[in-house]
Amino acid sequence: MTLRIEQIDACRWRIPKEGAMRTEGLVFASRQMMAALQKEEALAQVRNVATLPGIVGPSIAMPDIHWGYGFPIGGVAAFDPEEGGIVSPGGVGYDINCGVRLLRSALVEDQVRPRLKALADTLFTNVPSGVGSQRRDLKLSIEEETRVLRQGARWAVEHGFGSAEDLLHIEEGGTIAGADPELVSERALERGRAQLGTLGSGNHFLEVQVVDEIVDLRVAEVLGLFPGQITVSIHTGSRGLGYQVCDDSLRTMLSASRKYGIELPDRQLCCAPLTSSEGRHYLAAMACAANFAFANRQLITAWVRESFAEVFALGEGDLRLSVIYDVCHNIAKMETHKIGGENRRLCVHRKGATRAFPPGHPQTPELYRSVGQPVLIPGDMGRYSYVLVGTAGAFSETFGSTCHGAGRVMSRHAAKKAAHGRNIVGELAARGILIRAAGQATVAEEISEAYKDVTEVVDVVQRAGIGKIVARLRPLAVIKG
Ligand code: 5GP
Ligand code: MN
Ligand code: MN
Repeated sequence: MTLRIEQIDACRWRIPKEGAMRTEGLVFASRQMMAALQKEEALAQVRNVATLPGIVGPSIAMPDIHWGYGFPIGGVAAFDPEEGGIVSPGGVGYDINCGVRLLRSALVEDQVRPRLKALADTLFTNVPSGVGSQRRDLKLSIEEETRVLRQGARWAVEHGFGSAEDLLHIEEGGTIAGADPELVSERALERGRAQLGTLGSGNHFLEVQVVDEIVDLRVAEVLGLFPGQITVSIHTGSRGLGYQVCDDSLRTMLSASRKYGIELPDRQLCCAPLTSSEGRHYLAAMACAANFAFANRQLITAWVRESFAEVFALGEGDLRLSVIYDVCHNIAKMETHKIGGENRRLCVHRKGATRAFPPGHPQTPELYRSVGQPVLIPGDMGRYSYVLVGTAGAFSETFGSTCHGAGRVMSRHAAKKAAHGRNIVGELAARGILIRAAGQATVAEEISEAYKDVTEVVDVVQRAGIGKIVARLRPLAVIKG
């Protein structure tokens, strides 16, 4: 079936309702991005999501959209439990609560540059990275692990990793409610046990950055950002535990889809009604994995603070490495949204999409209430990343969501081919960017050209009014898995 697509304006496109679609598709993209997108399967995935029961509003795609398992990455879809709405593991993704945390510091580039090599080495040593990376000094008992699954980042803070203030600046306070570790398999628990506090591989990273440009001075001030300032981004998720929770749930969801008579245009969209036991169980297991990811980023933050203290021989008072914010970009959550003037509780799936709540929203942290929730958008290891804030436009049009990154344009395989015979680490070093990676294959797969230009992506988001650009960050040192 060829896909019909209509341009709405400079950065919006409609996939009209047809066939089994219950609603239309809404894609945010520039004309140029759309030209490239039309060659991809991802738009068909937007259409497929629109066929699922109980969907409210359009099936949405952000400008960083690319192919994902069932749902596209860069996709947002909301479902109403009272209208047969569903929850789908494919709408969350394998890396449950993959997300980004941004730390600011009191340091500036000139202070860090001379010790950058030592800093990169120390971070690389202190934060385990790579496939199956483990911390030998922090193997949890199963009892302790179930506490992590219930409490998330709060568990970490209660065990001396960070402060209560950190928790104020994490989505959901770093703990998703309703987690039930009884619903997490032994295998998932076993996979997670030694992986808490590890980065993982591939797209996950730990990056020392500098504030390259302030775009919105007023908001930057509220966020504590200034030009030349050193920041640190942490991008990782729930490691093997989340992967296993997703994998385990897919089997259940396939049979649930049959049991509840849900027609699937693609088996990868398997799902269950939000009101069914299968649906509720998935959300409770997903919450466990999400909490594991929050704790993971909290522990890594502690080791980042330790590493800076070690390298610069400065105390916390001088470094002031504080959490600006921590966002999930693979999650499904029950939220209240206004639909046709009426408040409704909906299950919002954000897969490769970031929550972007507006100024004044009760869930926007108090400190940021006047400017909106911080939104963290990584780009790639060679160009830029951005800090945005959420907007009223996002709240009314996209269930308070925006993009989550630049988005891949090359497969891992194609990127490796493009990097063949090149010294990528050397190329970046020549531009003042240090790379430390557990595997060289990762570096090749993660070359800048493998991603869209994040500047173009956030430009679309800003022009569409679903995000507001605050600052641009430039990488200095990148730890890759
Ligand atoms: P994902 O969660 O989809 O794997 O990745 C989110 C985004 O992170 C990607 O779309 C990409 O734009 C960005 N990204 C991947 N690797 C790096 C990196 O090493 N540094 C930065 N700053 N961004 C990256
Ligand atoms: Mn991610
Ligand atoms: Mn991830």
